[in-house]
Amino acid sequence: MLTAVVFTLCVVVALGVFVRQLWQRFNLLRAAAPVNRFDRIVERLQAVAVYFFGQQKFVRPAVAEVRETSAGWMHFFIFWGFTILGLQIMTMFGRGYSDRFYLPGFSMSLLGGPYLVLRDLMEVTVLFWIAVAFVRWLVTRPARLFGFAPAERRLLGHSHWEAYVILGFIATIMLTGLLYDGSRLVVHAADPGVVREGAWEPISSRVARLLATASPGVAAGVGNVAWWVHNLVVLVFLNLLPRSKHFHIITSLPNVFFRKLEPIGALAKQDLENTTRFGSSHIDHFDWKQVLDMFSCTECGRCSSQCPATATGKPLAPRQLLLDLRDYLYAHQDEVVAKRVPRRTDGNGAEPAEVGENIVGPVIQDEVLWSCNVCRACEESCPVMIEYVDKIVDMRRHLVQEEARFPAELTRTFKGMETQSNPWGISAEKRFDWAAGMDVPTIADKPDAEYLYYVGCAGAFDDRNKKTTQAFARLLKKAGVDFACLGKEELCNGETARRLGNEYLYQSMAQACIETFNGYQVKKIVVNCPHCFNTIKHEFPQFDGRYEVVHAADLVRRLIAEGRLQVPPEFRKKTVYHDSCYYGRFNQVYDEPRDVLGSAGADVVEMTRHKHFGMCCGAGGGRMWIEEDPDKRVNLLRTDQALEANPEVIAVSCPFCMTMLSDGIKAKDLEDKIQTLDVMEIVDRVTR
Ligand code: SF4
Ligand code: SF4
Repeated sequence: MLTAVVFTLCVVVALGVFVRQLWQRFNLLRAAAPVNRFDRIVERLQAVAVYFFGQQKFVRPAVAEVRETSAGWMHFFIFWGFTILGLQIMTMFGRGYSDRFYLPGFSMSLLGGPYLVLRDLMEVTVLFWIAVAFVRWLVTRPARLFGFAPAERRLLGHSHWEAYVILGFIATIMLTGLLYDGSRLVVHAADPGVVREGAWEPISSRVARLLATASPGVAAGVGNVAWWVHNLVVLVFLNLLPRSKHFHIITSLPNVFFRKLEPIGALAKQDLENTTRFGSSHIDHFDWKQVLDMFSCTECGRCSSQCPATATGKPLAPRQLLLDLRDYLYAHQDEVVAKRVPRRTDGNGAEPAEVGENIVGPVIQDEVLWSCNVCRACEESCPVMIEYVDKIVDMRRHLVQEEARFPAELTRTFKGMETQSNPWGISAEKRFDWAAGMDVPTIADKPDAEYLYYVGCAGAFDDRNKKTTQAFARLLKKAGVDFACLGKEELCNGETARRLGNEYLYQSMAQACIETFNGYQVKKIVVNCPHCFNTIKHEFPQFDGRYEVVHAADLVRRLIAEGRLQVPPEFRKKTVYHDSCYYGRFNQVYDEPRDVLGSAGADVVEMTRHKHFGMCCGAGGGRMWIEEDPDKRVNLLRTDQALEANPEVIAVSCPFCMTMLSDGIKAKDLEDKIQTLDVMEIVDRVTR
């Protein structure tokens, strides 16, 4: 009786504190800016099944360089062990009131037997993986746990006591569960019901045999102590969750459910007409899903391990960025929550005062934001679906549109886009020069053409990439595709401006582009630039520009399959294919370019980091136009990764990747040995 009373008091106090902490966190969500993530419920539930219950990002095959498979399985078993042992925890709580307590359906006459086997096996499995986790923390000490220098200064100096305590807690919960059940078998050895349980408990029955060697009083005492320790540790553990990175145990399910759904390549549209602020500069500017992201980080470091900026020694590491935001949010949580009241009651439409200081600069430095390649490697690797790209671009929007603070070299880029509709600032009159002597039809001459071939700025103005444009146009002609170009009427779609945070410029360019397309009643557009592909396909619909957008590799693969292009397999060179981020991670275009290369006879080999683990060439996110320290160049690192495959040819399918990797080959003085070619150039070389 006394036990039941004391235990009830402990539960009430612990649950009270826990609910209060949860309520505080929930209020932070309620105070954050709104965003609609309640649409497409079925897709959201599917994501929960795959990414939360299936733990897909933990256990998918990883490339060697990522080295995350064993850590992933560790998490898988600890997650499922804990889920299954949740029943054990409830049973142990119930035993505070009755020795014969069973959860409904889990008595020996129903599911009890199979459950007991599973529970026993899970307890030892979790103990094994906890031991593996301790080895990682104490012996192997990977940078994923301890931080990547130089960007993760916060983690590098962290004591990580939480991790040790939590691992110790989990191990204690498992061990005391086994001791309690072993003791129960000894103490109730004369009870046929308990004896039947013992037959289903392969591990606890062994513990019982050990305990039986001591006196009955000792066995009973061990069971008693184990029961108290087990339950008190569970209650303390519960209260540590909201204050630690282990809060993800509670928040990762909703974070996966509310994730950004396809198209993931579309940045959020900013309402330029009805807003008084442009971008995010204060902690209360982030929406509730972005705040939920901050709650959900497990600090596993997968994101930073994949980030090209971190890998090249820049000040950006995505995990560090998120933790800096989270710390600032927690430090100002009372102010954020207090602001919620005027936000809701203010009837005159005036914005309530912002919380804290402007974080862009003091908390998240400008260089951190400008280091980002907007490549999504971080998001792709995050097991709990945390989103980075929109947060970073939102802060860039503030810098560009409210502070006019950006790297000096971008002044020229923006001016070129505004005046000549291309980031180089080359005369717009030269946009169709690439087609000289090729007899390429313009849409003005052929308004009924099935496809508009939208070339894009790089393919139209950059000398090296003009060769790719010509090769693709030749292929279209050889296959008899009914196509036309806009010629000098083609306009830049503004993708670069958007990734650089210049949303105003982007929107005006996108709208002008759409007007041109609509003026010719364009329906189908083919492109050979992943950046143009992504923005026309996924972002133009935000401005009612809806077209069927096809990428070159898709169309050429179809033309080969239909026999409209005769492509003898004569290329026969060892070719490593570099995935562009905007075909790859943003649009899952992985197989088409490889298939096309295979048809041309290329001996396709892979880099260690390829497909969804591929690494940016260094040009993404507008970094093509930002100066880079010679010793921190992403393109040189990516070129080194390509060279590890010992190729004769590096194949690309993006004009910016072409520039970056051919520059890398040039910098290494390997131009005589290794060619950098676009997939379309390779096909064009062998096509009859
Ligand atoms: S988008 Fe790419 S560059 Fe930016 S933080 Fe993520 S991994 Fe790093
Ligand atoms: S953001 Fe995701 S990948 Fe990065 S540390 Fe947090 S949980 Fe891990």
